[in-house]
Amino acid sequence: MACRICSGRLHPFADFGSQPLSDAFAAPGGPPEPFAFRLAVGVCTGCSMVQLLEEVPRERMFHADYPYLSSGSSVMRAHFESLAGRLLDTELTGPDPFVVELGCNDGAMLAAIARAGVRHLGVEPSGGVADVAAAKGVRVRKDFFEAATAAAILAEDGPADVVYAANTLCHIPYLDSIMKGLDALLRPSGVFVFEDPYLGDIVERASFDQIYDEHFYFFSATTVRGLARRHGFELVDVERLPVHGGEVRYTLARRGARKPTPAVAALLAAEEAAALHEPATLHRFADRVAATRERLVELLTGLREQGARVYGYGATAKSATVLNYCGIGPDLITFVSDTTPAKQGRLTPGSRIPVRDPGAFADPYPDYAVLFAWNHAEEIMAKETGFAAAGGTWILYVPEVHLVRA
Ligand SMILES: [Zn+2]
Repeated sequence: MACRICSGRLHPFADFGSQPLSDAFAAPGGPPEPFAFRLAVGVCTGCSMVQLLEEVPRERMFHADYPYLSSGSSVMRAHFESLAGRLLDTELTGPDPFVVELGCNDGAMLAAIARAGVRHLGVEPSGGVADVAAAKGVRVRKDFFEAATAAAILAEDGPADVVYAANTLCHIPYLDSIMKGLDALLRPSGVFVFEDPYLGDIVERASFDQIYDEHFYFFSATTVRGLARRHGFELVDVERLPVHGGEVRYTLARRGARKPTPAVAALLAAEEAAALHEPATLHRFADRVAATRERLVELLTGLREQGARVYGYGATAKSATVLNYCGIGPDLITFVSDTTPAKQGRLTPGSRIPVRDPGAFADPYPDYAVLFAWNHAEEIMAKETGFAAAGGTWILYVPEVHLVRA
């Protein structure tokens, strides 16, 4: 298997075994999930990009029933509205500006742009969430973004001042076509701004559940700068973000168009000091993950022997990696509660734990709850006051297995 960026040799460092698609919630009594792939990750010995070894066809992941909604969390709604405000103030100030978002999901960001009356277009292949965005007044093109899409948008709308993507670029193995598309679509002074889970946070926190079918690349300043330069762009700004377990927002401009901010040099230096892309560092990460698996299974097995009630909280895409890698099934976690109606009444992919509505979580409250949506821990813990009153305990597994009194 060769690097998707530079065709270099990949050095594998972590293997989570055979996994179903993270959104394959099967009906009880039905056939097993039809698709499985090997979830393993490697680092390129040429360009240092960390990436999955096996690719899942995009149509299997991003389709009409894609279940994730960007606006599902109030923290994320505020995050995207704040960014929209900043883009309007700093980048979209010329005459008749135009902004394109790749993977606009339910329009969490673009709805604010639309309210400001600014020309925009969301490109979103998942039909269901695209309809939600359209209902908010967002102009949406139901499509995958690639070089050909960019040419069509350019012909119809002219060049873009900003192209933005949140939790989208890391989903796309064929970045070559994306970068060619950006090159065609962006104005000479335009910027490409995107944010994705940060390799530095994943390695530091051993947050191995960031690794699942949809996350193909694990970016860093080092590798994004390399990717940008291959296509005539430069990394001109980086910003650490607290959302989704630690992300970085990268800004790319055409080479020579903008001077990189000091934050770029600082993050590059920090990555070098941490030897972030060195195989030895990545193998240490894999060792910590293996230890987490051992402790989590030991804890849950002990709780079962004590007769404790243990539920899961949040049937997230991330949880598919945890449950299948650790071999946790309904014998250890009775059910997982989730707010997504399409998941309720179904079984978690591969691990086949029933998914129930949030009402079931409180009826009665469990003794322990495994918080799979740990990236929203603060928001969830503040909301679940009843669980606290009932004397419940949260189980978290990032950065290591630990208990938090609710
Ligand atoms: Zn490479």
